[in-house]
Parts: sequence; structure tokens; C-alpha cells
Amino acid sequence: MSATLTFLGAAGTVTGSQHLLDDGERRLLMDCGLFQGLKELRERNWAPPRVDPTTLQAVLLSHAHIDHSGYLPRLVRGGYRGPVFCTRGTADLLRVMLPDAAHLQEEEAEFNNRHHTSKHDPALPLFTTDDADRALAQVEAVTFDETFTPAPGVEARFINSGHILGAGFVQCRIGGRLVVFSGDLGRYGVPIMRDPDPVPAADVLLVESTYGDRLHPPDDHADKLAEAATRAADTSGWLLIPAFAVGRSQEILYDLRELEQARRIPSLPVYLDSPMAIQATAIYASHPEEHDRDLKQMETDGKRPFAPRRLSLCKSVEDSKRLNDTAGPGIIIAGSGMATGGRILHHLRRLLPAEATTVLFVGYQAAGTRGRLLREGARTVKMFGEVVSVRARIMVSDAYSAHADRGEILRWLRGFTRPPAMTYIVHGEPGAAAALREAITGELHWRAAVAEDGQRVTL
Ligand SMILES: [Zn+2]
Repeated sequence: MSATLTFLGAAGTVTGSQHLLDDGERRLLMDCGLFQGLKELRERNWAPPRVDPTTLQAVLLSHAHIDHSGYLPRLVRGGYRGPVFCTRGTADLLRVMLPDAAHLQEEEAEFNNRHHTSKHDPALPLFTTDDADRALAQVEAVTFDETFTPAPGVEARFINSGHILGAGFVQCRIGGRLVVFSGDLGRYGVPIMRDPDPVPAADVLLVESTYGDRLHPPDDHADKLAEAATRAADTSGWLLIPAFAVGRSQEILYDLRELEQARRIPSLPVYLDSPMAIQATAIYASHPEEHDRDLKQMETDGKRPFAPRRLSLCKSVEDSKRLNDTAGPGIIIAGSGMATGGRILHHLRRLLPAEATTVLFVGYQAAGTRGRLLREGARTVKMFGEVVSVRARIMVSDAYSAHADRGEILRWLRGFTRPPAMTYIVHGEPGAAAALREAITGELHWRAAVAEDGQRVTL
């Protein structure tokens, strides 16, 4: 039997990344992601697994983001006992992110039981902290560019993709065919992360298309951040930055430090009010082998790239609460990035009614989130069962992104020395995926198709 590839998730959508390789004897999963976002997607996490976990020999993870890794505890709960291969950076981040994801699941179940808001009695978590711990025990970390054998007769390696710490392309030779999966593709010339490595060849390529129909705006993130921080200094108010713990928080810290250094902003107290972001920042700092040239130089010079001069870490809830009695000006970085939960909510409730407050959104705000309402100019928002009025200045920077845009995807593809026999487009909304397919067939003259959910193809 010739080897096959089945798209089990992130086909026609951007979450639930999961692709099955099968050569008749060996079955491997590339990525093991959770579906996120709309309810009909999230419900798919609860359905019976589309592949029997006990029949898999190995899992290969492109990176730690939950939409690529968060189904692992569920897979283990379903009987998977094999190895989970990933890079060292990814392994370190998983030790923070999987228990956190499990904790959120347990909290949600507990909330539903207390308020009887679920049709299930009792409501159960999708997976538990124990499941997450068991999944972590199956992780086997490897080095970038190191060839390893995930299953007999199969060779694989991870190649730096520049997306977040530890993120790699998955290259896998199975059934005599060379498969390359982009995972999430990073950007060129951005701080902290190295540029994506070129990949010379693949027989079959899977490429992500999150921004397959868009170009990122010119690089103005430091400008918006400078404007927001300067306003906080001028009004003696607080600047609140809702930010994802992994990746985005480190970029903000880095940019604040750079702006201070260049004397473009005054040196304000900066509070990193997120235990997960604090841990993630330490993990970023502990992997200098993944840093770009500027970052390496800073470290050689004895500078701490993620530490603005007046940085404080709020580890405990008490540290966070103490900010309630602290006068501005100052900057608080806290999760969640879309203001759907986390410590940022307490700060927003207290500070949104004040004109002196500035809120800077630095990430994508999904439909239906508080972050989306605020960025669209809502004058009131509901929080903790209260209506909170919004007199703060709301600012938005769309320039932060960890995903390549259409131009950057094509730039990476042009690095192939020969066209793959077939390219499948994954990890994009239908419009973005179709636009990228058109660009690949029209500009590169490659054979390409948009992957369909559940579709099985021969390699
Ligand atoms: Zn990602």
C-alpha cells in the first residue's frame, strides 16, 4: 500500500491542526491540536477521535500553541502511549501550556456544575491536569535539524520556522516520500525570532494560509506602543496591554526596552501581571540558540532583552491586587489577549471608566470577544455581571503577528529548489486558503489544492 495523508483538522479553518501519515504499517500524527473559537468547532474536541489513538506509533508536534498541541491530553486519555516528538523549546513551553489548558477545562466544568449551566450532569472537563501530566511524560525533545526515527523505517526532523520559540517545520520521510509540513510559518526581519529557514525540497508540502489573502501593514508596532506609553506618561494614567503569554508578551517587553533605550518613551514602571507570561519569558531567555542576531548581541553585551528598566513581575494574586492601590503612570501587561478572562479583566473593570487610561490591543480579536467589542468602540462592556463604562482611550496595533503574510509565505516557497509534486493548503479560513492556492498556481506554477476536512490523499 502506498502511504497516505489524511487531514483531520485545520482544513478549512485555522484551529485543530492534525494530519495523519499512514504507510499501511505505521501511523503518525503531525500536530495534535485543539479546535478553538466558534461553538461548533469546539464541540469537535468532544467527538470520538477520528483515528484510534492506540493505533498510532508517534506524534510529531510543530510547536506548542494549543491549536497545535492541546488535543494531546485527550489523545492520551483515549489510550495513546507512544512518544510525542518536538523541539526542546516546544517541550519547555508545553510544560507550562498543557497544565494551564487543563486547569481552564477543570475550571469551566466546575463553573458549569456550580451554576447548572451545562446540559451534562455533572459537567466534565475535556481533559484533566492528570491527563496533561501523562501527556508531558510522553514528550521526547529533539534538537533542530537532528534526524531521528519516530517509528521504524520513518525519518524525521524539525527545521526552524521562526514562528514562536521552538516552532519548526516537520520534515518526514515515510513510504519513500518526503513530506514537509509548515506548521505555522513565522516572519522575516522581526525582532527576537530568527527568519524561517529555507527548505530545499519536498515531494508533498503542507503549507499554512492564515494570512494567505493579506499583507501585514508596514511595521509600525513600536510607533503605536510609543504613542500609547507616552499618553500614559502624559495623563499619569495606566496603559493596559492585553497580551498572549507566549510570544506576544515577550515582543512587547522587548519593544518597551528598545523604546526606552532610544529615549522615545520615558522609563515607566512595567508590570508583567501573568504567571504564564513570566514563565514563558524565562523559557524564551533560556534558549539563546533560537534568538536572532540582535538578541544574541544584546546577551553578549550583558543586557537583558526582555527587561525594561523598571520591570516588576506579578507572580501571585496579591501582587496583582496590589496594583489596585498603586497610582499611575505605569504599564500593565496581562492576559488574556482578547480580554475573555485572566487578570486583565480586573484591571479593565477598574480602569476603563477613567479617561486617563489607555488600552492597547496588540493581537487578533475574535468575533464575540470583549476585546473585539472594545476595539470596535463599545461605550460599555459587561464584566463580572456589571456594566462597565468605557472612557479610556482604546488603541489598536495590527502590526504584531507571528504568522507570515501572503508575501512572506511566497518568499518561503520560492526557497524550494524544485516544486513539490503536490502542495496542500491548510490552516486558513476558506477565503485565505483559496487566495493562497491561486497565488501558488498562478505565480509559482506549482500544483496546489486546498485541503478538505477529512480528505485522504495518496503521497
Ligand atoms: Zn502557532
